[in-house]
Order: sequence, then structure tokens, then C-alpha cells
Amino acid sequence: MEKIFRKIKNAYLGMISLFIGMRVTIKNYFAPSVTLEYPIKKKKMAPNFRGMVDLKPEACVICYQCIKICPVAALDLTHKQMVADGKKKNEITKFTYNAELCCFCGLCDEICPTDAIFMNKMYEVSVYDHNQVMNIDLMNENKYKHVDANYSLAAEIKINDLNTVGIIQKPPVAPVAAVAAAPAGPAAVSPTPTPEAPKPTSTNKETA
Ligand code: SF4
Ligand code: SF4
Repeated sequence: MEKIFRKIKNAYLGMISLFIGMRVTIKNYFAPSVTLEYPIKKKKMAPNFRGMVDLKPEACVICYQCIKICPVAALDLTHKQMVADGKKKNEITKFTYNAELCCFCGLCDEICPTDAIFMNKMYEVSVYDHNQVMNIDLMNENKYKHVDANYSLAAEIKINDLNTVGIIQKPPVAPVAAVAAAPAGPAAVSPTPTPEAPKPTSTNKETA
């Protein structure tokens, strides 16, 4: 008799376990998908994602800041001085990038005063030959076409311009007329900051 009860109990527990498992399966079957059908569908990269180094040549002021800060010497820049219309003008003769040396730190992007150099959103950069990524001409607008046929400099610049990474958003300057119309108070008469009163030293405290 005890044996029969044990069998009934096991069958009951088995059914309960089955229903719990089925409930989890059905719930996940109708839940929204958390995976992506890659490479047919691709995820949009986060605004601060650091892909390959890219350049807006017309924005570069040849300050060499990116060259100096690069910890692995992955960038190579040279320029020459031209005379056009009686004025001296600097012109880039070579600006290359070695993606094999690059550690994708983003320092060049951060230090550039004109946001000319930036990290684009490319992440599919597999190549068959080292030479394909060792001497990338940043002045060439089709610089990554051999790596990704869909690469577009204009699109990458647009995405970069929408991001604020590395760019400090300055508050708008108050109009001059509004400042002039403000009532003349003690602060307006003397814009020089009042020197702070000397803080009491331990000697002063003891004296008091
Ligand atoms: S991301 Fe870093 S390592 Fe790569 S080129 Fe820029 S500064 Fe150099
Ligand atoms: S820091 Fe910017 S502006 Fe200066 S050389 Fe590099 S890319 Fe050009």
C-alpha cells in the first residue's frame, strides 16, 4: 500500500514540475526577443563607442596635439608650408593611422581642439592582410571602403556631430544690452572680486 502511495505522490510531483517548466517556456516564447539576427540586423553603437580613428580633413588645424598625445605612435602627420595669394598656408602632406598599433584609448579624439579627429562607429574591421590596416590614409574619404563597402565618411561625421563626447557644451553668453540695462549696484560698480578675509589661524584662536 505504501508503495502505491509513493508512486501516486511521485506522479503528482512530476506533473507539478512539468507545469512549472511549461509555464516558463510559454512565458519566454511570447516575450520580446533579446537577441539580434546578426549580421542581417545590426545594433546601433552607443554614442561613446570607440571604433576606428577617422578624420574631417578640412577641420584639421595641424596643431600636432593628437600626434603628441598618442601613447603608441599610431598616427603620423607631416605638412608643408605653401604661399597662396601672398599668404603663408600650411597644408597636410601625410596623415596616416596604424590600426594595429592603436589601443583605441580615444585620447586623440579628446584632445583635438576642432574635433577634426574622432572615433567612428565601425566595428566590423576584419581583414586578410595586416597591410590593409597598418597605413590608413586619413585624408582619403574612402579610407575604410576596403574594410567595409558600406563605409561612408559623411555618415560617420554626422553621427559624430550628434554626439557630445569630448565636446564641452558651453552655456550661452548673456547679451551685452541686458548686462548694460541691469541696475547699478555695488557689485556692478566694482566688478573686481573683494579679497577674502584672512582665515583665523591657530595662533589667532589662542590669542582670542
Ligand atoms: S585612439 Fe589612442 S592609440 Fe589610437 S590613435 Fe588615438 S590616441 Fe593613438
Ligand atoms: S589634434 Fe586635431 S587639429 Fe590638431 S593635428 Fe590632430 S586632427 Fe589636426
